[in-house]
Parts: sequence; structure tokens; C-alpha cells
Amino acid sequence: MKVFDDPEKQAEFERHLQLAREFIESEQLNAIHFPDIPQEFFSWEPCECCHSKLGGSRYEIKGIGDEGWYLYLVCVECFDALNILQSEGEI
Ligand SMILES: [Zn+2]
Repeated sequence: MKVFDDPEKQAEFERHLQLAREFIESEQLNAIHFPDIPQEFFSWEPCECCHSKLGGSRYEIKGIGDEGWYLYLVCVECFDALNILQSEGEI
């Protein structure tokens, strides 16, 4: 899936897509609920999807599994990657 003309940005995007797939599988999620109005905030907490330890913008998403739902804190790149995977029907 080509999104960026810049090869470095494209590689980084694909890396996050792969990490997002692994995250969905390891957390056994059936769906992700994205907030209607995403609230971006700064946090030093690692991203729960790609495990980036860099402080930065985070979003809260709701992962829905068989046992209920759980809140995850994810970085902007993972938020976008998960959003794309869900809209492509991969989740
Ligand atoms: Zn991330």
C-alpha cells in the first residue's frame, strides 16, 4: 500500500502496519473503536502497539476482544496504521 512518495516515510509506515497487525493478533482484538473526535495528548508512556519509548503524541483507542474491551495508548503512526487496517477489513 503506497501512501508516501518519500521512501523513508513509506518504509516507516509499512513498519507500523506490520506492528499493528502483530498487536491485533497478540491482543486478540476483533475490532477497534476509534474516538469520534480523537484527543491527541503528550505522554512519556510507551506506545502499546509499536512499543516506541519516545515521548510524543498519544491517542486512546478501545480494543474490543472476546472478553470485553480495553483501553490502549498508541502513537500517531499506530493510530493511523490501525485505522487503515480496520477500514481495509483486516481486523
Ligand atoms: Zn506506536
